[in-house]
Amino acid sequence: MSFPRFPGLLILILTVALIAVNAPVSRADITIAADARTNYVITLPSEPTAPQQTAAKELQKYLAQATGAELPIRSETQVSKNAPQIVVGASDRMGELAPDADVSSLQPDGIIMKTVGKNLILAGDPPRGTLYAVFTFLEEHVGVRWWTSEATFVPEKPTLSVGSLDVKYAPPFIQRSAFYREPIHNPIFAAHLKLNGHHQNVPAEYGGHRRILGFVHTFNRLLPPDKYYDEHPEWYSLIDGKRVRNEQLCLSNDAMREELTKKALAQIRQNPNAGMISISQNDRPCGACQCEECKAIREKYGGEYSGDLIWFINKVAEDIKKEFPHTMVETLAYHYTRTPPENITPRDNVVVRLCSIECSFLQPLGTSEENKSFREDIEGWSDIAPNLFVWNYVTNFHNYILPHPNMRVLAPNIRFFADNSVVALFEQGDSYTTVGDFVRLRAWLLSHLMWDPSQDAEALVREYVNGYYGDAAPYLLEYLELIHDAAEESDVYLRCYMPDTSSWLPPEDVHRATRLFTKALNAVKDDPELHRRVRRAKMPLDNVWLKRYKSLEIASKQSGREFPGPKDPAEAAKEFIRLSEEFNNKYYGEGRPFQDYERRLREKYIRSAGPPPEKCKDLPEDRWVEFQDAFFGMARSRWGRTVDDPRASDGKAARMPATHHEWAVQCHLSDDLTLNNPWHCYVVARCDVKKNAGGDVMTMGIYDLRNSKGITSRSVKMEAAKGPEYKVFDLGTHDIHGGCYVWVAPRKRPDEVEGVYVDRIFLIREEKGQE
Ligand SMILES: [Zn+2]
Repeated sequence: MSFPRFPGLLILILTVALIAVNAPVSRADITIAADARTNYVITLPSEPTAPQQTAAKELQKYLAQATGAELPIRSETQVSKNAPQIVVGASDRMGELAPDADVSSLQPDGIIMKTVGKNLILAGDPPRGTLYAVFTFLEEHVGVRWWTSEATFVPEKPTLSVGSLDVKYAPPFIQRSAFYREPIHNPIFAAHLKLNGHHQNVPAEYGGHRRILGFVHTFNRLLPPDKYYDEHPEWYSLIDGKRVRNEQLCLSNDAMREELTKKALAQIRQNPNAGMISISQNDRPCGACQCEECKAIREKYGGEYSGDLIWFINKVAEDIKKEFPHTMVETLAYHYTRTPPENITPRDNVVVRLCSIECSFLQPLGTSEENKSFREDIEGWSDIAPNLFVWNYVTNFHNYILPHPNMRVLAPNIRFFADNSVVALFEQGDSYTTVGDFVRLRAWLLSHLMWDPSQDAEALVREYVNGYYGDAAPYLLEYLELIHDAAEESDVYLRCYMPDTSSWLPPEDVHRATRLFTKALNAVKDDPELHRRVRRAKMPLDNVWLKRYKSLEIASKQSGREFPGPKDPAEAAKEFIRLSEEFNNKYYGEGRPFQDYERRLREKYIRSAGPPPEKCKDLPEDRWVEFQDAFFGMARSRWGRTVDDPRASDGKAARMPATHHEWAVQCHLSDDLTLNNPWHCYVVARCDVKKNAGGDVMTMGIYDLRNSKGITSRSVKMEAAKGPEYKVFDLGTHDIHGGCYVWVAPRKRPDEVEGVYVDRIFLIREEKGQE
């Protein structure tokens, strides 16, 4: 894959490391096992901690699997100084053998891997460092790979030799979170990946993890207005002359700060090992206090609204530090507090959290024009703040089960964070699904890069795909390259909410991708487990077909190319639903049950579609496309929903009550249709009336989101729409693209109109050359 290239020095370091792993026996300093026999002992401190004991057991287990030899685990009091040994954890023995190996000089989670004579020392910063030293040794020098919670690779090495080692290392991020299902639901796997973030739930014997007390948006949870507002309205924001309970706090109020600090300290006392507490604004667009005192602080420290926030947080953090010197106080630079302040810097125990939600994830954050605004924020904060925390988005929240071509920026973005004072990183991936876009590869890749951002991401991807997918690897690597090339070619602004793939993955690339997966499946057809892994990895591509079937079919017919998509979309939808169940998948988006998506697929493909529109029945199939109500998005459920209607072409219609005038029915079109512009657009609708009063009953039109402008709109008279029979309304002929949607809205006439019903929307392609 064409990942960004590395500086020469890093490649050199990597090459040296590889040589060390594969070094011939003659050059090795120590031989831990020879022909499945060993005279080595694993030496623990006389009073080992739980994570040190786990580290020794893990080392024993994987060395036994690799070499066939089991190293006994002994206390340092039982092992002679002269015996060949692997010293696990800082101990007197470590001091005797290597007086300069000092774990107290390590940064958080830091490790020491060092050979001394014929001995090996694996130790680290407590509580996790010793485990991380063992895991790093097993990965880099034995060749163990933890691909998933269930798939571990241990090489056979009856003779295991290790070259001279003198490694002292600590990761740039003290808190590392990869928000994926595998490491969240399997805490020991998370420990193997050296993840230690809030959600990773690593048990204490595996070193535990860092928590963020309160997690985020905690102002109102620390000082609930229901409890405090009546007595202390002055603790809450003054807005337009009034104290408001549900916006933010009046940060200049000393009594408020005292009470908030008291509550925060009580929380930390209950969880003294958490490591971080969130003291952060409520999730509101603004709501900053407008009182004279707050304004005066704000004027002094600038930053629009961040000056008074940092002034306040510094004071809270100063008080927390007196009792808990190692607990970090987290706050947000978000919405109205994004711009960094002036004349004030966050204290050393304050962490400022930024999030990248509005960025494009195709182009790197650190260099691209698209992400200039976020980059300026983070660089501005980095200039003044000792510690930043980034909440980064690495999936498509609209629908997890779609290709999301952001893999090439993962490593450059992590390096950009490391270069800009970021000490805690939350990579928010598809935590809910088991069948997202290469989710296992992503969790593994991100974990490795967060541990050591200088690693070669391209090499890591290749290694994973080869290791986890076996003989299918060449095709899958080509597939990954193909979809990333396609996205780069399109130069799409890749948000973390993308409704479909038509804006960046053209039909011919969907075809290529499909052929590559066919080859990949064929390459592993005799290995049921590998076949299962590849089949699961193909589900996002299956979903591309299900989301774009009709328009891809038309594009294919137009181009005269062979059609590699499923012959029968209903069968494809059934298979997709079956596979989701087989792979124990419960969600298609964050908090969005797969059942909801399944219902839409069933309505779209499996339920009988009804006869074609009268205007289309004599046209060839590739001249028209229809969108039944199952395709519509409803802007709000209370504005409309799908109901049974025997007069509708498929027995169902979208019904909107005449109690509002919102564009509730929205039918988003696809970029696949642009090839065949222009299209003549029609809406099939009707209304039930209570009182035959005439006048307008509904409006409809086409809106262009990309250019923020209406393309067309019209209103419909009661006379033309009333009654049980559906009528066809003409929206005219237009050039459309994937940013367009057709909308329909009722008029607000609750006394005269019972409801407005939309059966379907259809488009007829104008013949080329036709006037
Ligand atoms: Zn105030």
